[in-house]
Amino acid sequence: MREKIVAGNWKMHKTLEESQALITEIRGIIRDELRGQTRVIVCPPFIALTAASRLLEGTDIGLGAQNCHFEDQGAYTGEISAPMVKSTGARYVIIGHSERRQFFGDTNEITARKAKNAIRHGLKVIFCVGETLQQREDKTYFKVVEAQLRDGLFDLDRKEFSQVVIAYEPVWAIGTGLTASPEQAQEMHAYIRKVVATHYTDEIAADTSILYGGSVKPDNAATLFGQEDIDGGLIGGAALKARDFVDIVKGMR
Ligand code: PEP
Repeated sequence: MREKIVAGNWKMHKTLEESQALITEIRGIIRDELRGQTRVIVCPPFIALTAASRLLEGTDIGLGAQNCHFEDQGAYTGEISAPMVKSTGARYVIIGHSERRQFFGDTNEITARKAKNAIRHGLKVIFCVGETLQQREDKTYFKVVEAQLRDGLFDLDRKEFSQVVIAYEPVWAIGTGLTASPEQAQEMHAYIRKVVATHYTDEIAADTSILYGGSVKPDNAATLFGQEDIDGGLIGGAALKARDFVDIVKGMR
């Protein structure tokens, strides 16, 4: 059965001290209030991963990075590799976030190489797909997302693909306050599951967690998460406030 997951993407927010404080707060509220079946993951900036890993020891809260390079090492100034991420204690990595695609040149081909190498090193990949506003208006969004899946993931064999969580994040809904309606999100999630089933198997598709991301807040989480093919969320802005983040996790019930 597929896992229910809520992951927080902190983006380029929080210093080391601020990250430690936020992790400590999230950890405390979760310990006091949650007895859930939902896997909670936090993805702070690279500089906080090692400290976060220590703070999360003995908890069920997962830890992830927000990106990693496709090579293990080399002359790539400023980059962080999958083995480096793994060495911090993180077990997840976000690949293909729309901000990486938009501002850092992460093409489908690059995301494919990153995902493959991260999995080779034992990381689970939260792989982001999603269309721009223009593509939604042009009604090419199914084609766009299908190409992101095909070119980014479908070189993975079945075993490798079992390490992938997909996050559908319509670009027009990220950080804008605009949320896809539950029906729009469900329609795309069902489509993604169908595409995965066609390439792999029905069973693999049924076991794949597909998260929704894009202006998820405590007051809209439950309706979105209540959709049949929505298995949780990837949360940006609201993941920076412990109270909001945990309330969103509660929306999974
Ligand atoms: C994100 O960056 O993955 C995201 C979903 O951001 P927000 O929740 O702020 O829209």
